[in-house]
Amino acid sequence: MSYFLTEDQEAMRRVAQKFAREELMPIANQIDLDEHAPEWLTKRCGELGFLAIRIPEAYGGMGGDLTTACIILEELAKASPAFAGLLSVEMILCPGVVDILGTDAQKRRLLPDSATGHRVMAFSQTEPAGAGNTKFHQTRLTADGNAWRLNGHKLFCTQGAAKSYLVFCKTERDGQQGYGCVVVEREDEGFEVQKYEDKLGWRGTNTGPIAFNDVKVSADDVLGDLLTGNADIAPVNQASFMGHAATSLGCMEGLFDLTVAYVKDRSLYGQPMHRLSPVTDRLAQVYAKIEACRSLLYSSTRLLDEGRMTGPQGSICKAYICDTAFECTSQLLQMWGGSGMMNSTGVNRYMRDARAKMVAEGATEMHHAIIAATIGFPVSMVEG
Ligand SMILES: Cc1cc2nc3c(=O)[nH]c(=O)nc-3n(C[C@H](O)[C@H](O)[C@H](O)COP(=O)(O)OP(=O)(O)OC[C@H]3O[C@@H](n4cnc5c(N)ncnc54)[C@H](O)[C@@H]3O)c2cc1C
Repeated sequence: MSYFLTEDQEAMRRVAQKFAREELMPIANQIDLDEHAPEWLTKRCGELGFLAIRIPEAYGGMGGDLTTACIILEELAKASPAFAGLLSVEMILCPGVVDILGTDAQKRRLLPDSATGHRVMAFSQTEPAGAGNTKFHQTRLTADGNAWRLNGHKLFCTQGAAKSYLVFCKTERDGQQGYGCVVVEREDEGFEVQKYEDKLGWRGTNTGPIAFNDVKVSADDVLGDLLTGNADIAPVNQASFMGHAATSLGCMEGLFDLTVAYVKDRSLYGQPMHRLSPVTDRLAQVYAKIEACRSLLYSSTRLLDEGRMTGPQGSICKAYICDTAFECTSQLLQMWGGSGMMNSTGVNRYMRDARAKMVAEGATEMHHAIIAATIGFPVSMVEG
């Protein structure tokens, strides 16, 4: 189904499909088994133009729409939902934060290299008090002459081979307190990557805790308004939620395609497996859900691209599509019997990656709270 995509969008889909099939799929299971993705993968995505899509032309990008970015993520996720998740952070979230908060000089410094894959960036907000519970976050920027010092630590930072970290922190100016964003470079003195976690899903993305021990931050590294930086990124968050929904859509589709091929090939009780009516019934239900999710996603990205979005479409897509992806991948996995349980077959990673997406970038319940607020039931996200 075309979903009224343009020729340029379809052309980009073909480039992403080819890369996913020929370069990503052959190593996708190894990434999952090893908890390690090779660095060349991100650079290759830079060469293919994927990372430039959402970056304005003035800063070395293509100034493309969110729909195209989501098409790329959907195609890559069919092979490796985990790597597509990392790429979503690189394509949409991090450049979006720099673009919306940064000065012209900061954009010139950070975005052109990000567009080529030579400056991987990380988004760092979550703390032990809870990701959305920013009132209780401890990471703090304090004045030090003409510069600043950053102290604290963050959890679950998805980094790949990050060079620059966009760190959200408590700030203070002239007695006023706020929550802003600063740039920390990996080589900065006092910055520490503590470890990379061994995860259930979304493996190979170098997710883990990071710490700041008196890291010096110059005024050039403060993105946007010191006190209100975090408040301004809501439109980027909504776009990013759709990017993650696109990876969950691709995740469902990837396992669906593998499962269709499998049941066509497999013989069970002396007959082709697909002759068993529960099998085709289940496949039909999953297919319908994939189509419904695709319609929701691309009608939402279109609203955003055309500047007509009035509600929390990103949260709706993130909550609904990510939950559906877990439900569907779990149903599909069932059809593989014992071989689906074996990590070596590369099948169960789809379900594990789908499960991680129900938490990463906002647990489903947090998105439900955002949706509930827009229908008249506001819930405070910062209750202590
Ligand atoms: C694989 C992975 C990668 C990640 N990468 C990053 C990253 O790059 N940068 C980053 O900053 N963070 C990252 N995170 C953190 C992620 O954004 C948070 O885990 C997520 O937002 C949930 O926050 P929390 O873990 O603090 O859960 P908590 O806030 O402690 O919530 C625990 C549970 O409480 C429930 N809950 C939470 N809020 C509400 C609410 N408002 N209403 C009702 N119930 C609620 C949910 O069931 C939730 O799962 C990553 C997480 C994962 C799993």
